[in-house]
Amino acid sequence: MSWKHRKGPDMAISPADGSYDIAVLGAGPAGLSAAAAAAAQGSRVVLIDAAPRPGGQYWRHRAGEDRLPAPLRAALEAVTFLPSHAIWHIERTDSGFTIHALPDREIDCRTVVVATGAYDRQLPFPGWTLPGVFTAGGVQALLKGQGVVAGNRIAVAGTGPFLLPVAAGLAEAGGQVVGVFEAGRPTAFLRHPLALSRNVSKIFEGAGYLRRLRRYRIPFSTRTTVVQAHGTESVTGVTVARLDSNWTIVSKRRIDCDTVAVGYGFTPQTEIPRQLGCEMVVDADGSLCGQGR
Ligand SMILES: Cc1cc2nc3c(=O)[nH]c(=O)nc-3n(C[C@H](O)[C@H](O)[C@H](O)COP(=O)(O)OP(=O)(O)OC[C@H]3O[C@@H](n4cnc5c(N)ncnc54)[C@H](O)[C@@H]3O)c2cc1C
Repeated sequence: MSWKHRKGPDMAISPADGSYDIAVLGAGPAGLSAAAAAAAQGSRVVLIDAAPRPGGQYWRHRAGEDRLPAPLRAALEAVTFLPSHAIWHIERTDSGFTIHALPDREIDCRTVVVATGAYDRQLPFPGWTLPGVFTAGGVQALLKGQGVVAGNRIAVAGTGPFLLPVAAGLAEAGGQVVGVFEAGRPTAFLRHPLALSRNVSKIFEGAGYLRRLRRYRIPFSTRTTVVQAHGTESVTGVTVARLDSNWTIVSKRRIDCDTVAVGYGFTPQTEIPRQLGCEMVVDADGSLCGQGR
């Protein structure tokens, strides 16, 4: 990419010449869609990502693999892609913006679309800095990007549907998942029928993950989470607690494991919008989001 200059799934670096109508920062699902939509309108688009391959977290893949859907790839034919370019600074100029990326490169554009993704949201607990405690996303990225299973006996904990593919993926790759501990009550979404009707495919996807957990006999506990990681040099076990509807601990038990993957959803990566002086707002889930110009 320019999808035009691409030699294979990994794509070669194309020359970023002149200036662009639109620079899309981040080649995950959001950035890829934005770049494709802008290019379809005839804009001159550059797509920039620190990673060596497009796809972001969702379509993360190893060298030689290709995970992007073919129609999306086709829609990106006219987009110039700069992989392995970490954006560290953006300046406002009279005609728009100058983007500074490493290795040493400046890219001029009239409009910037920030699609730099999110971080795992973490809640601290005693022992959370021990070797063996990972974010759920970190464990997933290791597996998808490097084919590495983070540990042998793994507890997966936190909130949200993302815990399910993490546990299923670890089990399929040979890890022993000692349990998925979901702190929330997944059926709470039944109170939002409109949202539910708009995301029917997600319900089937969730059911598919639960089937995979059953296949590997992975216990799935709701209203339960990890409240302590034990060990001196590294994790040797965790205490999981059963919670009531106010997240007050009702009971506790200890489980042996050498790895913990924890994530309480995601919070947007806002460094670039903040650097540009964009207005920030607190979203419905408590995350800080960029808004405005
Ligand atoms: C570690 C991690 C793993 C995840 N794994 C999954 C998963 O397996 N399945 C799933 O459904 N969801 C996963 N998620 C959730 C994920 O956020 C969304 O599913 C989806 O990928 C979000 O799409 P996006 O385009 O908004 O951001 P992302 O997919 O995160 O893409 C953002 C892109 O921006 C690039 N970027 C960020 N900052 C810079 C910079 N300064 N310079 C240049 N490039 C930059 C990143 O390299 C990345 O490619 C994961 C999240 C995290 C944090």
